[in-house]
Amino acid sequence: MTSQHDAVVIGSGPNGLAAAITLAEAGHAVTVYEANATIGGGCRSEELTLPGVVHDTCSAIHPLAVASPFFREMPLARHGLEWIQPPLALAHPLDDGSAMILSMSLKETAAGLGDDGGAWIDLFGPLVEDFSLLIDPLLAPFRIPRHPIAMARFGLPALRSAQSLAESRFSGERARALFAGLAAHSILDLHRPVTAAIGIVLGVIGHVVGWPIPRGGSQQITDALVAHLRSLGGEVVTGTRVTSLDIAGDAGAVLFDTSPGQLRDIAGEALPGWYRRMLGRYRRGMGVFKVDWVLDGPVPWTAPECAQAGTVHLGGSMAEIVHSEHEAASGRHAERPYIILAQQSLFDSTRTPDGRQTLWGYCHVPNGSTEDMTERIEAQIERFAPGFRERVVARSTMSPAQFETRNANFAGGDINIGAQDLRQLYTRPVPRFDPYSTPNRRLFICSAATPPGGGVHGMGGYHAARSALKRAW
Ligand SMILES: Cc1cc2nc3c(=O)[nH]c(=O)nc-3n(C[C@H](O)[C@H](O)[C@H](O)COP(=O)(O)OP(=O)(O)OC[C@H]3O[C@@H](n4cnc5c(N)ncnc54)[C@H](O)[C@@H]3O)c2cc1C
Repeated sequence: MTSQHDAVVIGSGPNGLAAAITLAEAGHAVTVYEANATIGGGCRSEELTLPGVVHDTCSAIHPLAVASPFFREMPLARHGLEWIQPPLALAHPLDDGSAMILSMSLKETAAGLGDDGGAWIDLFGPLVEDFSLLIDPLLAPFRIPRHPIAMARFGLPALRSAQSLAESRFSGERARALFAGLAAHSILDLHRPVTAAIGIVLGVIGHVVGWPIPRGGSQQITDALVAHLRSLGGEVVTGTRVTSLDIAGDAGAVLFDTSPGQLRDIAGEALPGWYRRMLGRYRRGMGVFKVDWVLDGPVPWTAPECAQAGTVHLGGSMAEIVHSEHEAASGRHAERPYIILAQQSLFDSTRTPDGRQTLWGYCHVPNGSTEDMTERIEAQIERFAPGFRERVVARSTMSPAQFETRNANFAGGDINIGAQDLRQLYTRPVPRFDPYSTPNRRLFICSAATPPGGGVHGMGGYHAARSALKRAW
């Protein structure tokens, strides 16, 4: 196939679109090819249950997007993107009917943590102050830090396991459980080193920019990115699964918003055997099992704070959350799994046509699990919100296999496109000074299988495009 483009991006997830925009801004003619009929990868919304009800298929809550240096520079508001800040970023209920919260106020958050309030401020206060120095390097490939003191303040606690950091910093259950719930977004066994990092990052971002949701659903983020790309002359072609490099014609650069396995298979002999073998050794992470509900009213939470929060973490104590994640990491299913819930419609009336409510939630399961977790997830919600089940009008579930069918990147339900543990944190997809580049000067990888990993932030795409601009032409 001959082509008119200078660059091709395979995949239209947030990183693929960020890469395409960065190349188009530099003056290149870019075409994005997307396997699905719709654009956005892990940042989409669909009517998964009833007509007119907007559910977020994958991402729902977007602290990383708002904190991202790439998104900060994008004129997305001009293309219709509007952020909503729920009154509280997060609530985490306990069995005694109370709940801890995470809000943009450190003091308000600390006030709910009893004797550990001071320790929470000691851990997060300095990082909140250093936020503007920390955020760019945290969402970038590893480099010698330009602000070593600020980086050390973050890095020393971040290197620890979430459990050991929480036990050493906090004496009470409330702060320990709140921190464990944040760290469990790492989708790792919380006994493992560096699992404290994601807990710290999400906590700091929550205190500085909140955990916002896009009005109208995550698709609005994608639609705004696509509108900007098109305004720069870029194109997106849907319904086209790329299986070989032929589609790129003589384009100077091809960027893969795909898994390392797909980069290997699509590029084939265009990459040397040693590099393909390294891609083959890339390790997958746990999967997720997700449920979307339509409710005839808000979730009847026992703890009133939960009704003010965009996100609710269910899992009770730190010990229970650590156990849940350890079970999933070990190939088993916790009886009482740790759940992440999002309550978008409470703060965004555009999500349902008739005042009903939506609820979005998932738990971690072993990669490729075939277990139906609906009962166990609903039992956890019922535990903190008796009467929940009676409010359910409709539900839709998504298993690891269904995630993989919808998006080849999420093999076995692995939504981070690869385990994000110490060995693969900065060396994704393979250890290289420039992890976005490959031994072929035309080929680059830009998906969440590159630093800084999972989440809607576009930084993998941005850095991969910068690498292409340096090397490809
Ligand atoms: C259930 C769930 C909940 C999540 N919650 C959040 C959240 O609340 N906040 C957050 O920030 N992040 C969240 N995430 C993570 C986030 O969605 C991902 O980290 C992000 O989408 C990764 O972006 P990406 O561009 O790297 O890849 P993807 O979003 O996976 O996009 C890749 C695209 O490439 C396409 N593609 C793949 N192979 C080919 C091919 N051969 N040819 C053509 N096209 C191809 C795919 O169809 C897909 O559209 C969640 C993910 C899931 C699944």
